Amino acid sequence: MTSRVVVLGAGHAGVEAAASLRKAGFDGAVTLVGEEDALPYQRPPLSKDYLAGTQDSPLPLRGEGFYAGQDVELRTGERVTAIDRTARRLILRDGPPIGYDHLILALGARPRPLPFVDPGLDGVRYLRTVHDSDELRGRLAPGAQVVVIGGGFLGLEFASVAAARGAAVTVVEVAPALMGRSVSAPVADAFARLHRDAGIELLLGESVTRVRSAGGRAVAVETASGRDIPADLVMVSIGAAPNTELARAAGLAVGDGILVDAWLRTSDPAISAIGDCARWRVDGGTRRLESVQNATDQARCVTARIAGAGRSYAAVPWFWSDQGVGKLRMVGVPGASDTAVVRGRPESLCFSVFHFEEDRLTWVESVGAPGDHRAARRLLEAGAGLSPAEAADLETDLKALARSRTEAVHR
Ligand SMILES: Cc1cc2nc3c(=O)[nH]c(=O)nc-3n(C[C@H](O)[C@H](O)[C@H](O)COP(=O)(O)OP(=O)(O)OC[C@H]3O[C@@H](n4cnc5c(N)ncnc54)[C@H](O)[C@@H]3O)c2cc1C
Repeated sequence: MTSRVVVLGAGHAGVEAAASLRKAGFDGAVTLVGEEDALPYQRPPLSKDYLAGTQDSPLPLRGEGFYAGQDVELRTGERVTAIDRTARRLILRDGPPIGYDHLILALGARPRPLPFVDPGLDGVRYLRTVHDSDELRGRLAPGAQVVVIGGGFLGLEFASVAAARGAAVTVVEVAPALMGRSVSAPVADAFARLHRDAGIELLLGESVTRVRSAGGRAVAVETASGRDIPADLVMVSIGAAPNTELARAAGLAVGDGILVDAWLRTSDPAISAIGDCARWRVDGGTRRLESVQNATDQARCVTARIAGAGRSYAAVPWFWSDQGVGKLRMVGVPGASDTAVVRGRPESLCFSVFHFEEDRLTWVESVGAPGDHRAARRLLEAGAGLSPAEAADLETDLKALARSRTEAVHR
């Protein structure tokens, strides 16, 4: 019987796990351990409102009184250095071990480092924590020369804020299009126009060969085609690596993520893994996602199992990214598409791309079209149908259609 659950990692997944254990009726001991000092906070604003300075303090995931109120022991500023699976306990850097009956690993991910840059070089920064955001915010002075390496979601959100704060921004992206692995050409092109209109220089299909320094600080970025871009600040955003070291050292199965089954159990049934650090079995393969929705829904899936009402993880993924005036919303798993239907006008930054495979709706990208996103979510979550012709026809009332079709599915 599980009477003591320890959740390791007090980010989006960990906090939701602790909270939903109680919601699901679990009445044993719950301990939430995290190495960051702050009250657990939301990460998305770190590249948006908090970075821009329009939000003064980090947004807490739960209010200060929540943890005591729910009888959750919150232990921040505590780094776990090992998992002793035999004795079922966590070894801390400082302080006595913590025992568990069930351990939930919610360890998150960290920025992938640029391999050829000295990690201590001043002026080269990454973005994951509130300290990183504070540091970057302090350097975004008007006229600052900022180079962003990587044209993915995070790099572009940062670039938008930097440009809005008066910096001269260049984004260097090795792929021929922005957000290349995750979005379709109409969406990538719309965002490229939007960023160029905001004064951001985009160098696509270009790779960085060197970050030049002088006196211990970065001064320029050199590219393969011979560009030499002066830089006061270099922001590196080339992806995130899951935090798997603890799991690997404890002998758990690990790949690019801690490997879990469809119920999010690791190779040790007393340990689950969720959120950015977890790679789970799905559709005959494995998947790892970095999003708030995934962290939250996986937490709920595991805690339902611990509380005795287990089901395999089957949530439809969704995601958002705010880049200047461009609001991107996505639902479904990007990739599967033999037919793409554009609804609305990309030039207006108010459109959606509906993707189908063999006439089945698979995933949808919406730019400035939250109504399309909500309808698509309803349809995909219910497994209800939509035809390419219906998606393309602006006369189709998607909201009404989604409501009636999902009701029909649930009847
Ligand atoms: C700047 C930024 C903006 C983002 N914007 C969006 C967005 O707009 N939309 C979206 O859907 N997603 C966004 N994301 C992604 C989203 O924030 C992550 O997917 C989410 O935080 C994952 O939650 P998690 O709990 O798995 O990991 P995290 O939130 O990273 O939490 C993991 C925690 O575990 C702790 N930890 C790790 N190792 C140890 C250890 N040994 N001992 C103790 N503690 C440890 C870490 O310090 C960390 O606090 C953004 C991410 C960033 C960084």
